Amino acid sequence: MTQDWLIRTETICMQCGGHCCDEAPPPISEHCYQQLVAEGVPEDSFEQKGYRFLKTRGDGTCVFWNGGKCSIYSIKPETCRAGPFTFDLKGDVIEIFLKFETIYPIVGLLKEVPAAYEQQFTLAKKSISHLVANLTDEELSAICRTEEPETEKVAEIPREYRTHDHRH
Ligand code: SF4
Repeated sequence: MTQDWLIRTETICMQCGGHCCDEAPPPISEHCYQQLVAEGVPEDSFEQKGYRFLKTRGDGTCVFWNGGKCSIYSIKPETCRAGPFTFDLKGDVIEIFLKFETIYPIVGLLKEVPAAYEQQFTLAKKSISHLVANLTDEELSAICRTEEPETEKVAEIPREYRTHDHRH
């Protein structure tokens, strides 16, 4: 990625103010929960409705969104790492969706630069398959009941998708 591309990315993020996180409470597997709590994330940051997720404030922002930035960036959950890609599960197939530029402004720039798209797509596949592998079937059905209308399907990968690096 060129310096110019990175500067354009930063500019878009600053203009948006980090609102790609709004109303998107990231699901938290037991594995991720243990990691976050061990890193000092308070236990009252989580909520549970069919699955565990990070709480959202009254205005729709994540409890860790602060001044346009993620305050737990280095340990953020899998779906936060995967953005602007998201997923659905159909049997043993993970369907990968890309959010529309209207709700995730960086998408236009990603589509312009195939190397950047490929890099983020690879990270998304790894993060999403890590999350899926660490959730129960009940949690996954509850997560997949949430509609994500402004998205387009871009790929399908096997549920048992494996990479050489299992860290997320
Ligand atoms: S954890 Fe960070 S990246 Fe994820 S939704 Fe919250 S503020 Fe956004």
